[in-house]
Amino acid sequence: MKSCSRFVRAVVALTGLVAHSTAAHAQQPRGLKVFISVDMEGLAGVVTSADVSSTANGDYQHFRKIMAGETNAAIEGAYRAGATYVLVRDSHGSKENLLPGDVDPRAHLLRGLSTGPRNMMEGIDSSFDAVVFVGYHAKAGTPNAILEHTSTGNVVDFSINGVSLPEGGYNALVAGLVGVPVVFVAGDRAVLEQIRGLLGPIGGVAVKEEINDAALGMSPARAQDEIRKGVEQAIRNRARARLYKMAGPYSMTLKVKQERPLYAGVQRIQQGEFTFSSPDLLEILNAFNAMK
Ligand SMILES: [Zn+2]
Repeated sequence: MKSCSRFVRAVVALTGLVAHSTAAHAQQPRGLKVFISVDMEGLAGVVTSADVSSTANGDYQHFRKIMAGETNAAIEGAYRAGATYVLVRDSHGSKENLLPGDVDPRAHLLRGLSTGPRNMMEGIDSSFDAVVFVGYHAKAGTPNAILEHTSTGNVVDFSINGVSLPEGGYNALVAGLVGVPVVFVAGDRAVLEQIRGLLGPIGGVAVKEEINDAALGMSPARAQDEIRKGVEQAIRNRARARLYKMAGPYSMTLKVKQERPLYAGVQRIQQGEFTFSSPDLLEILNAFNAMK
């Protein structure tokens, strides 16, 4: 009896120790990391390719300010939801559209072209808690969309395991691969519907919609307001977002206008149509990037 109660005391002491160390751990905030990928075609007001081309004689300098405005709205929303670290990936063209001094100094900006398969998702890893897409556009061939295309003007369709994907679709797969959900998308109405069709009812703001090739949309200030509020809410609700994943092995079908040299292992089905299979999703994206 005596030894038994000593045993009980020992267990209580040990339990207390465990409880104490758990409480100490809980007091240390784990941090909340948010990854924001920003494209240009889906920004408020953008309607023509000259708006988003640094080499065209259009309003690019104006729209890169709008890009910074929508980016900063998303960053602000993330911090209001408790973010402790925000990485912004400039995801358009040369990836040198956001001027570093224009971006909220709390965020870290990843700019410039990167090697490897991740491209618009460069910098993502399993330490992040949520992904946000800003300025996104629908895939090539989408009706009633503004500046719809898939990565380059050369791609007619890019499918993985039979699912035709926009940039936001395969970027969500890259995030899903490391266990991070996409929680929000801003762009035109067409990309919102397309992304929600793949990922489910995630947060989003349609900053504009297509009307016979023209764009009807919110003012940039209103769009930024909606993005800030939407991102904050989506990150707070991130537990509801599901990961976008497909079961491997992966098989891609790529249709292009102009054929590129064959990537190792890629098979040509017919004029402009190719397939490739791999257990590794990133290898699929390597093949896509080489042949798009
Ligand atoms: Zn794009």
